Amino acid sequence: MSSDSETATARRDAVRERHRETADEVLPEHTDLYVGGEFVAADAGETFDTIDPTTGEVLASVARGTEADVDDAVEAAWTAFDEEWSGVSAGRRQRVLTSIADAIEANVEDLARLESLDNGKPVSEAKIDVRGAAEQFRFFAGIVRENPGETMNAGSRYGQVIKEPYGVVGQVIPWNFPLLMASWKLAPALAAGNCTVLKPAEQTPLSALRLVELVDDVVPDGVVNVVPGYGEEAGAAVTGHPDVRKVAFTGSTAVGKQVMKSAADTVTDVTLELGGKSPVVVFPDVHPKKAVALVKAAIFYNTGECCEAGSRLFVHEDVADDVLEGLVAAIDDMTIGDPLDEETDLGPKVSREQVDRTLEFLETAKEDGGEFLAGGGQPDDETLADGCFVEPTLIEGLDHDSEAVQEEIFGPVLDVFRWDDYDEMMALANDVEYGLAGGVITDDITKANTTARDIEAGYIWINSYHDLVPGLPFGGYKQSGIGRELSAETLEHYQQTKTINLSLR
Ligand code: NDP
Repeated sequence: MSSDSETATARRDAVRERHRETADEVLPEHTDLYVGGEFVAADAGETFDTIDPTTGEVLASVARGTEADVDDAVEAAWTAFDEEWSGVSAGRRQRVLTSIADAIEANVEDLARLESLDNGKPVSEAKIDVRGAAEQFRFFAGIVRENPGETMNAGSRYGQVIKEPYGVVGQVIPWNFPLLMASWKLAPALAAGNCTVLKPAEQTPLSALRLVELVDDVVPDGVVNVVPGYGEEAGAAVTGHPDVRKVAFTGSTAVGKQVMKSAADTVTDVTLELGGKSPVVVFPDVHPKKAVALVKAAIFYNTGECCEAGSRLFVHEDVADDVLEGLVAAIDDMTIGDPLDEETDLGPKVSREQVDRTLEFLETAKEDGGEFLAGGGQPDDETLADGCFVEPTLIEGLDHDSEAVQEEIFGPVLDVFRWDDYDEMMALANDVEYGLAGGVITDDITKANTTARDIEAGYIWINSYHDLVPGLPFGGYKQSGIGRELSAETLEHYQQTKTINLSLR
């Protein structure tokens, strides 16, 4: 063995050791289902492993919920709703939400390390997620009382319009922001007065389980139930359950369509936050350095595993060479490695399956004549051989119709297009089936606003990216989804309207 190999082996051993020690410190005590305020084994007694994508080692065996468990969870949620939660005041719900936020904030470091182990995201980014999760609960705690309803005098009638919770809602979340997505779902559901059954992704069930451990004493039994398991088993059982009155799903557009179809059988209300293939438009007036920093963050944050990732770059011809040169240099400077290191910029993808999926797209891009300005495969670094790493990749020269441009890759891969005709560029920018987000980089306020309006998407950043602020609605146009999260509008998705028409005659 060469001394380079020995060094790489020693480093990999050190990373494994560090991950095992960290797991001992931060893993949840319970990895069972959480139903009716108790941790219980799955009805069928089965479990599945959740894997650390940095080391390839098993982090924990988790109860594998199936239809019978979802039935129990839905029943526990209705019991909690009927016997307690439907009668609690907005003030009490506000205190519960605030206590959840406090519990998360008191555990930022450990929750971030747990998220980093289970998902592979850099711990520095995981801390942003965890603080963001606490913010969700604080935001909905803040607006929970702003729900007075309306009254109307209409001649000989007096009308009241009130908002009521659905009762029990079903929520299915993905693996890219496990705790943050749990908070985006749980906070508005509870604020609106519902009880819930949440299914975390099979790749990343641990932070949701740790969260319910942390808040077990502040949330009444049965108000929140967590059923880990596989999508086709536990997930489909949640989204198709006849006693679930509202379904909220975040994940792929393909599964979102199935969820919508299954909800049709019971005419259940559905909100969907699905995929994206978002354009970032760079105008010639901006300093290339500014463009490089923003474009880099737009695509490489969270290893590109963001539904809103800015994955198609439209850079004006006049600055294209400078911006692309700057991007290649910025990629060279990125630290790829152990996500538990504070200095790491890019961790592993969540799973081997996701690596294979990304590599298949890269292969297709090569066959379609893409020119790789950076990356294009897995890092050639023995130190990283245990993990699910993919190089940050820049591809130019692809036809806009090609698969790697049209499909959501969900990895650190950016497709680049140069433009000099605004209308032609905008036609391409909108020529995808998605419409989740977009970015505009220019110091010209008029161009910025016009472009923001021209992009067919639900959320546009001008001179920033990814920063989502509670209160500003987030959600997609076209096949990127239905409904909005992060805002007062979200609360309405978790409520139904009742009109009471009182005759005064
Ligand atoms: P999925 O859409 O399959 O997963 C999202 C969630 O849905 C998971 O909890 C999953 O369960 C669950 N699920 C899967 N099938 C069903 C079903 N039939 N009924 C109800 N729930 C179900 O995404 P993948 O993990 O397969 O990722 C594939 C691609 O989807 C990614 O490469 C990316 O392009 C996109 N994606 C987009 C996300 C976004 O935020 N917009 C998030 C995640 C993925 P489980 O995984 O536990 O089996």
